[in-house]
Amino acid sequence: MAVEVSTLRQEVTELLQGLIRIDTTNPPGNETAAAELLRDYLEESGVECELYAKIPERANLVARIPGRGEGPKLLFLSHTDVVLADASEWSADPFGGELRDGEVWGRGALDMKGQVAAEAVAIASLAREGFEPSGDLIFCATADEEVGAGFGASWLCEEHPEAVRCDYLINEGSGDRVELGGNAFYLCSVSEKKSAPFRLRVLGRSGHASMPGIADNALVKAAPLIQALGAYKPERELIPEVEALLETVTGQAPTSPEQVLELARGVSPLLAEMVDPLLSLTLSPTMATASQKRNVIPAVCDITVDSRLLPGTTIDEQEGIVRDVLGEGDYELTSLEAHGGTRSEIKTPLWGAVSAWVESVDPGARPAPICVAGFTDSHWFREAFGTVAYGFFPSRVLPIETAARLIHSADERVPVEDLELGVSFLRSAAQSLLSNS
Ligand SMILES: [Zn+2]
Repeated sequence: MAVEVSTLRQEVTELLQGLIRIDTTNPPGNETAAAELLRDYLEESGVECELYAKIPERANLVARIPGRGEGPKLLFLSHTDVVLADASEWSADPFGGELRDGEVWGRGALDMKGQVAAEAVAIASLAREGFEPSGDLIFCATADEEVGAGFGASWLCEEHPEAVRCDYLINEGSGDRVELGGNAFYLCSVSEKKSAPFRLRVLGRSGHASMPGIADNALVKAAPLIQALGAYKPERELIPEVEALLETVTGQAPTSPEQVLELARGVSPLLAEMVDPLLSLTLSPTMATASQKRNVIPAVCDITVDSRLLPGTTIDEQEGIVRDVLGEGDYELTSLEAHGGTRSEIKTPLWGAVSAWVESVDPGARPAPICVAGFTDSHWFREAFGTVAYGFFPSRVLPIETAARLIHSADERVPVEDLELGVSFLRSAAQSLLSNS
């Protein structure tokens, strides 16, 4: 047993090192090289692989252990692209994949080539053992998650639904071990806020800047509107995920958003910080453009507002709220995009699999459901197939605060012990959901 475990540890470490050494910075991505590396690795263990590509350089890999057609389909989801790394900010080569003091260094170690490698090793090792799942076990490493320009998960769900249709899905998003009120919990993301940025266009009349009286300065008119957005205190709402989280951690189900904060502060500042953005939508003005010339009074001022909605809130509801905040005026609102904002049930067999694994590796610890502020590719699968999708990749060596600082940043790295923990979880989830019984 000990020999097998240490072998998987080495296997996942080496595979991650190989993946990091392939530069899949998106844009442009070039994920095909990563998909081919994974295919070569998986085929050695007898796992069927297929590459699906909208354009040749940006392939998605789908690997499968076919089931006997009696059980549900479980899919391990991940993406092979990474965000830009500025080597001058790093104390290691971001594409070196160096193993240093028990950690693998490089762009994507946390987001999310570490999980890519763990998912590949989990399915490969199960295949070598002759695992015969009741339903298909699928591993899907997609292109283009970081930009989302239509080469990855969205395209697969649309163009090749039979390749990726699944009942349960495990993806990135959470998995950190946190101590709250003296007890240990592993956060498991069951829903996501909706990213719904919009443009506020303030209208005026242009004129020469030396004669302000003849013009109507859109930039000046924008100022009180920006202030109103910044000062807005949104109405709070209690969503089921927050209710379940508080009940798991405190043993008491809150009945109002105010009680959530009170209970959370009683447990720890970390919990209060975690739940605060999950009680309402957010409106954050982040970008502004007006005149392109110093001596021309602008007729138009565009303000870009980042906005995250609670799952279930619609764009129409958002617009209504924003119009109330701004009042009457010379402006137009345009939704720029809307992604995410989906949820999965908490009480499911997949939750049971997460719980059983947590209990087995960390007695006394429990999973705690969470809605995350960002969004992942999970929503494509929830929308296309009604999949129960959770973001869960366990991490207990690297503290949650450190991980948050390293993702998309310099000196990204992952402890080998956490990689091994991830492999253990994924194998266990497949065995418990797709067991032969
Ligand atoms: Zn990611």
